[in-house]
This record gives sequence, C-alpha cells and structure tokens, in this order.
Amino acid sequence: MTETTVSDSKAAPLVVLSGVNKHFGALHVLQDIDLEIAQGEVVVLIGPSGSGKSTLCRTINRLETVDSGTITLDGRPLPAEGKELARLRAEVGMVFQSFNLFAHKTVLENVVLGQVKVRKIPRAEAEQTARELLERVGVAAQADKFPSQLSGGQQQRVAIARALAMNPKVMLFDEPTSALDPEMINEVLEVMRSLAAEGMTMVVVTHEMGFARSAANRVLFMADGRIVEENTPEAFFTAPRSDRAKDFLSKIL
Ligand code: ADP
Ligand code: MG
Repeated sequence: MTETTVSDSKAAPLVVLSGVNKHFGALHVLQDIDLEIAQGEVVVLIGPSGSGKSTLCRTINRLETVDSGTITLDGRPLPAEGKELARLRAEVGMVFQSFNLFAHKTVLENVVLGQVKVRKIPRAEAEQTARELLERVGVAAQADKFPSQLSGGQQQRVAIARALAMNPKVMLFDEPTSALDPEMINEVLEVMRSLAAEGMTMVVVTHEMGFARSAANRVLFMADGRIVEENTPEAFFTAPRSDRAKDFLSKIL
C-alpha cells in the first residue's frame, strides 16, 4: 500500500484494483485488472466499444459486482454490500453519458438533494454549497429552472455539480460528452479540465483525444476486457506499442 509509482512521491494510491475479474455469463468482460490511481491523477480510459470501459468504471463504485479480486478506496476495501458500501460509494462521483438529472426537480434541488439526504447537511448550508457549485460550472443563472429547460451541455454541467456536492474523493466520467451536440462539448470539457487542474482525482472514459492529450496524466488502452497498454498521453498517441492500439488510433485520429 505504501509503494510509490514511478516519479511519484505522493502517498498511497487512492484507488487500487487488484486481480479484478468479471463475467457476464460466458463473456469475460474484465480480465485480471490491476490498476492503481494516485491522488490527483487524471486517468483517461480509451478503447473500442465493448472493451469493458464502462464496466470497469462501474466496478470502482460497485455499481457492478466482481467475481474475484479486490477494490480499495483510500486504503479501505469496498465491501459487497451494506452501510459501509453506501458510505464508500458516496465518495465516488459518477457522471454518465446521459445526464440522469431528476426531471421534476429544479437545477438547484438536483444539487441540494444528495447533500441533505445522504450527507445529512442542513438545507441552508446545502443550498449555499449548491449555488457555489453551480457558479463553478457556469450555470448559476439556471438554478431555478428544470433540467428540460437547459441545453445538454448545461445539464451535464449540473450533473457534474451534483456529483461534486457529495464531496467525492474521485470522479468517474463515462463518455460525458458523447450525447452532446458538438458546440456543447467544449463547455463540459472545460469544467473537467479545471477540476483536473484543481487536483481532483479523475477516471475519464472519452473519445475526446484532445482532452486526453492535454489533461490526462496517463492513458489506459483497453481491449477485450484487458488493459492492453498504458502510457503518458504523449507516448501513447505518438508511439502506441500494441497492434490493437495502433489499429484503434488509426481509426479515430
Ligand atoms: P465499453 O464501455 O468499453 O463499450 P462495456 O463495459 O459497456 O464496454 O461492455 C463490455 C461488454 O460487456 C460488452 O460486450 C457488453 O455488451 C457487455 N455487457 C455490458 N453490460 C452488460 C450486462 N449488464 N449484461 C450483459 N452483458 C453486458
Ligand atoms: Mg461504455
């Protein structure tokens, strides 16, 4: 646990997956995944459709169970169920492709709810925090609207604010811009860039290679349930080692 990685003098890794395997029936969707994510690190996960990227993300907060292996968060193993799981899961923020806001609640209420219900924060304080977070992601003016009155880019920024309101130790982003019209992609990536710059630990599944190049500390390339290659973005994009990665990059770049 106290092992340090490469040139990294920081403390123990925040997230550790060790020997993780998962099947969906006969499909071996995650195969012997070993992964350590340092505090403040931004890891971009790329790979072909169906390679297991979403499943890997979802195992980190136990939205998916695993068949074998362990996952620890800040040194504590994720249990299979129960109160301790709920507590640890609250420390993992998740933002999906589909924004999943509560349609019948205002934007402000979307960011207030989890604070009050899960974190037991008094409403007035939760509202104050929510307004600050909405300001931070650039949608403070929309606080009293309903999600359907916002653009996709605005909704996704609210979803990010809502996740941040839980005061997570790590944020998982699973293709957060894939459902957005092109002109809205950048406003979401900008929020993610600033989070990264502020030191948030992040795992990001994305096809936005510009973001990967500029914001990632490390790129993981997945294929067929395995982490096939990992490197700095610079090295990965200029000199991919595996045929799978070369083939993938030739199709998307
Ligand atoms: P990616 O995010 O890289 O596209 P996924 O993690 O979503 O890949 O899926 C990996 C594989 O697991 C795919 O073949 C997918 O069809 C399959 N899969 C994902 N979720 C389920 C599920 N709940 N039940 C059965 N198969 C699933
Ligand atoms: Mg996916």
